[in-house]
Amino acid sequence: MIMLIPLEYNGPKMQDYRCSAQCTWCDGCGDYGIWTAVKRALVELRIAPNQVCLCFDVGCHGNGSDKLTGYRFHGLHGRVIPFAAGAKLGNMKLPVIAFGGDGASFSEGIGHLVHGIRSNYPITFILHNNANYGLTLGQASALTRQEQKMNSSPNGIPEHTLNSMDMVFALEPTFVARGFSGDIPQLTKIFKAAIEHQKHGFAFVDVLQACPTYNFFATHEYLLGKCYDANADGHNPRCEPSKARALAINTSEKIATGILYQCEDAPNFYERLKPRNGKKTTLVEEVKECDVEEFMKKLV
Ligand code: SF4
Ligand code: MG
Repeated sequence: MIMLIPLEYNGPKMQDYRCSAQCTWCDGCGDYGIWTAVKRALVELRIAPNQVCLCFDVGCHGNGSDKLTGYRFHGLHGRVIPFAAGAKLGNMKLPVIAFGGDGASFSEGIGHLVHGIRSNYPITFILHNNANYGLTLGQASALTRQEQKMNSSPNGIPEHTLNSMDMVFALEPTFVARGFSGDIPQLTKIFKAAIEHQKHGFAFVDVLQACPTYNFFATHEYLLGKCYDANADGHNPRCEPSKARALAINTSEKIATGILYQCEDAPNFYERLKPRNGKKTTLVEEVKECDVEEFMKKLV
């Protein structure tokens, strides 16, 4: 897509991200809030649609790939992190945001999430955490509450709920945040920080998302009552990881939201690649046209 930039360009506006495709999310879906906050964060960071790569997994949130303008990639279920990381490593100047759901990210794609965090790939990952598989009509995910009755488990799910934040902290992350789909101003702030963190590595953002159609246990009202802004409450994200981890996993009384942990000192994956040391160009700038005709003949 070619974008025409006016001579006096004062940065992108919300309407620059507008797309004519009709929204198909259910009324009251938390995707609307996340979608709005993503656009706001990009606009406030002065990133235009032609200056960002937005990568989507499969799921209700993934249908957002045709509800925004910009460079977008909609891949296979559970595989958003590999192709987002590939795009970023190809062009380190490009901000890359990967969106995934709790179903794919903590089951089919859990290996990619594990290695995305431990490798410290320089991308932002936004988890649409509605605690179920919404697109396929409300089956339990690894993050559904134990004993909750879901469409795939009418007697309640027998397994305990995966402690996602505990798992994330075990992987020595460099950025962990949590937000709630009903608080767009806070989400915007978190997303901006998570996009800016890319130069330091993998930014993991867990967004607790209302799904009024299938999630009847962590509703918008429930989250509104449980979530509080830990940063406004004095929490410093540049604290010891153990302190941030304890805050993140202790959700029995209240749920801490905001930027829970940030470390800007660890090298990202790209910086650890010895062949790239000292190179000023990006891989995408080094691509050369090459004739593969002779090579192809050998294959037939
Ligand atoms: Fe949103 Fe849930 Fe409807 Fe999917 S099923 S669009 S997550 S409310
Ligand atoms: Mg889900």
